[in-house]
Amino acid sequence: MNQMNHYHSGAYPVPDQRGIEPVLFLVELDPQRVVDGVRYDDNYLADDVMACGTMRETCPICEEGHLQLVLRQKNVRVAHLFCIECTRCFGAFLPDGSPALSD
Ligand SMILES: [Zn+2]
Repeated sequence: MNQMNHYHSGAYPVPDQRGIEPVLFLVELDPQRVVDGVRYDDNYLADDVMACGTMRETCPICEEGHLQLVLRQKNVRVAHLFCIECTRCFGAFLPDGSPALSD
């Protein structure tokens, strides 16, 4: 008559996050390959590119800004992370090498 385990399991949802979040490997991308835009001198600009959110990760190059998540959309060919401080683009990969960003 030991039903205690059955009673407890599934009684409430087990949190997915236990304080260990996956490490993302960031690879700098050529902005011209990910965004349709126009190069002005040192800057590469595109119209109507919407950031979908701000990541926990900060820019590995300038270490200033939190990276913005930019998903595929008009003018954006590849989902990527964008640093508004240095305007670099990054791809994110999981430790097993698979892309961390998906549409
Ligand atoms: Zn940066």
